Amino acid sequence: MPPPSQRSLSIVGAGLAGALLATLLARKGWRIDVYEKRGDPRVQGYAGGRSINLALAERGRHALRQAGADDAVMRQAVMMRGRMVHPLGGAPQLQRYGRDDSEVIWSIHRGDLNITLLDLAEAAGARVHFDRRLDSVDFDAGLAHFHDEREGIAFAHAFDALVGADGAGSSLRAAMGKHEDLGERSEFLDHSYKELEIPPAADGGFRIEPNALHIWPRGRYMCIALPNDEKTFTVTLFLPNEGDPSFASVRSSADARALFERDFPDTLPLIPELEADWQRNPTGLLATLYLDRWHLGGRAVLLGDAAHAMVPFHGQGMNCAFEDCVALARQLEAHADTAAAFAAFEAERKPNALAIQQMALENYIEMRDKVDDPDFLLQRELERKLQERHPGRFVPHYTMVTFMRIPYAVALERSDVQREILVEATRGLRSLDSVDWAAVDARVLARLEPLQDAA
Ligand SMILES: Cc1cc2nc3c(=O)[nH]c(=O)nc-3n(C[C@H](O)[C@H](O)[C@H](O)COP(=O)(O)OP(=O)(O)OC[C@H]3O[C@@H](n4cnc5c(N)ncnc54)[C@H](O)[C@@H]3O)c2cc1C
Repeated sequence: MPPPSQRSLSIVGAGLAGALLATLLARKGWRIDVYEKRGDPRVQGYAGGRSINLALAERGRHALRQAGADDAVMRQAVMMRGRMVHPLGGAPQLQRYGRDDSEVIWSIHRGDLNITLLDLAEAAGARVHFDRRLDSVDFDAGLAHFHDEREGIAFAHAFDALVGADGAGSSLRAAMGKHEDLGERSEFLDHSYKELEIPPAADGGFRIEPNALHIWPRGRYMCIALPNDEKTFTVTLFLPNEGDPSFASVRSSADARALFERDFPDTLPLIPELEADWQRNPTGLLATLYLDRWHLGGRAVLLGDAAHAMVPFHGQGMNCAFEDCVALARQLEAHADTAAAFAAFEAERKPNALAIQQMALENYIEMRDKVDDPDFLLQRELERKLQERHPGRFVPHYTMVTFMRIPYAVALERSDVQREILVEATRGLRSLDSVDWAAVDARVLARLEPLQDAA
């Protein structure tokens, strides 16, 4: 095995995962080159792309801590204690995510986060090459062909191993798929999204409660809003692609205004540029990406969205991608043989990616249709009671995914069992007064082992 300082890796994509992985490995002495198709956001401004802001949770924060990035990132983060649910015509109500302010999530600006991570990657010794788009790869010769977007010329880079951190539309994945069938399939959601903005109030402050993730649930569709530290909110409308209302029926900015007047009237005074935002911002597609294989021997491996893009309804895509980075860095350090490291990484992460992809799809129904449903709210009340009665054994679904680092697959398995217990115990009830506690406790003890968080 060559000494650590001589091991090298070329990463495609200096987005969230690429920049974090570069930091983790460069800090361990690896020679890291990162190729990014866009310009340097610190020079040219952040080019945007996917969502404007993101929810950061414990899995992501743990990974940031490993890279020494948590403090710098958290300086720009806004705390979100829970869901502020805005029923049509009713008063908003906060549903806390956790027990107290130790169990919260954080809203961060994608561009600021990316810049922070790029600074850290370079400070750790990684070389980041901007305006370099991966075009094709000759895996047998170990040559990656890039296009220099500024000079308009093609060039080849000899690599030891490639990591694809180039997102949902990964070019490295396409190149790997040409070399060997990866068993790739994408399932597009029949809903898409559009982003709008709530600017700061006249006094420079936030226009609505800053420390919450706002939701306007409307059955088959919804709006959400996440705060930004410059006192704005990014609003995201999720709407079906077909039917009424849908992106097919709501086409013009006048149609959008009519939809908001009918279904989200309380947001209208908050979004003064509704028409302009509607026209300016693209409609984003949402899909889940499944692959049978994530790596080609020791030549190339995929992580983050390039390996397992998911719908955004659990706010875990980036968090999961960050967990991938920690896992890959650990496996690379543990195995002298890169192929063995890639195989161990895939074996560790693929079942967990599948689990969070499924939970993200399920959470859309919960957010748009259930958060103001009385049966659902009663189940949440019972969930809290059972958490108190069986600490460390009955752990709410949201807590397992968001505030813990147990494998996602374990969270999914236990959540299914817990959901059965909650539905069964509250069937036909309007309050918890007539719950058969002895029976419920017995079921919890029989079906759920005590749970330890990851070390
Ligand atoms: C609407 C929406 C909301 C979301 N909200 C959340 C949230 O709240 N919390 C959360 O955890 N996740 C969220 N996500 C998911 C999150 O955005 C992704 O999981 C995350 O960005 C994945 O990071 P990545 O580094 O794998 O990919 P990306 O962030 O997409 O980065 C890929 C990088 O590769 C570069 N690249 C692409 N092609 C090439 C090429 N050929 N050559 C060189 N470079 C290339 C790109 O320019 C980019 O910089 C959301 C996603 C969407 C769409």
